[in-house]
Amino acid sequence: MVKYLVVFIVGPAGSGKSTFTSSFKDWLLSQSTPASTINLDPAVEYLDYDPDIDIREYVFVRDVIEKYNLGPNGAIIASVDLAVEHLDKVQAAMEDLPEGYVLVDTPGQMEIFAYRQSGTYIVSELCSSSSLCAAVFMVDASIATQPYNFLSQLFLSASMYYRLRLPLTVAVNKIDVLEDMEKNRLLNWLSDVESMENELEFASNVDRVFTKRVLRLLSDFMEVVPFVPVSAKTKENFEQVYFYLQQIYRGGEDFE
Ligand code: GDP
Ligand code: MG
Repeated sequence: MVKYLVVFIVGPAGSGKSTFTSSFKDWLLSQSTPASTINLDPAVEYLDYDPDIDIREYVFVRDVIEKYNLGPNGAIIASVDLAVEHLDKVQAAMEDLPEGYVLVDTPGQMEIFAYRQSGTYIVSELCSSSSLCAAVFMVDASIATQPYNFLSQLFLSASMYYRLRLPLTVAVNKIDVLEDMEKNRLLNWLSDVESMENELEFASNVDRVFTKRVLRLLSDFMEVVPFVPVSAKTKENFEQVYFYLQQIYRGGEDFE
C-alpha cells in the first residue's frame, strides 16, 4: 500500500522552497490532509518552520567547515554529499510520520542537489516502495517578467524534469509581488507561450527561426508539465498545486 506522497521541493536559491514547504504544509493541514516536512538543506541557518525530520541533526555546514577546513562553497557541497551517509536515519524517522504528504525542502543551491550524484541518489533512496514521489519546481515570478528571462526559467524546469525524472509541477512563485499588468502578461504566457513571439526581439532571421522552434518545444513541454502561478506568502492557488499532486497520489482520489 502506498503510504506517502513524497514531494521534493526544488528550485534555484531564493525561489521560495522553504517558504513554500512551510506554507503548503499549513495549507494541507487546514484541509485536513496529513502532512509532514523534511529539511534536507544542511546549510540553512534559519527556517521559519519546525521540520519533522531535519538533516542538520546529522550534518550541519558550520561543523563541516571546521572539521574539514573548507570554505563555504566547498562545505555546502561536502555536506550534501555527507548527508547520503545519514539517509538510513532519515528513512527510519520517516516510518513514524503519519500517512499522507511528506514535503521535502531541498538545499538552497539547486545545482548542488540537482546536478550532483548525491542529490539524485537521495531522491531514489527516499522513494521507497511504500511511497510515491513527485517534485514541485519553484520559479521566482519576479525574475520571469521579461520574455527572455521567462524562457530561461522554462528551460531550467525542463532540465530539472529530465534530471529528477519525477512527475513535476512548476510553481511560478511570488506572484503577490507583481503589478497587475505584469501578472496578466505572465498568465498569458503561461496559457500560451507561443503568444510571446510578438514580444521578442530577434537579432537576425536565424534567431527568429530558432526561437520559433524553441517556443513550439516549450509549448509541448507545458502540455506535459503543469505550471501554476502561486504565492507561498498568501497561499494563492495552492488548491491547484494540490489538484495536480492528488492526481499522482492515489490516482487522484482524496484519502480519508
Ligand atoms: P529558498 O532559498 O528557495 O528556500 O527560498 P526561501 O523560502 O528562503 O525564500 C527566499 C525569500 O523569498 C525569503 O525572503 C522569502 O520570504 C521570500 N519569499 C518566498 N516566497 C515568497 C512569496 O510567495 N512572496 C513573496 N513576496 N516573497 C516570498
Ligand atoms: Mg531554503
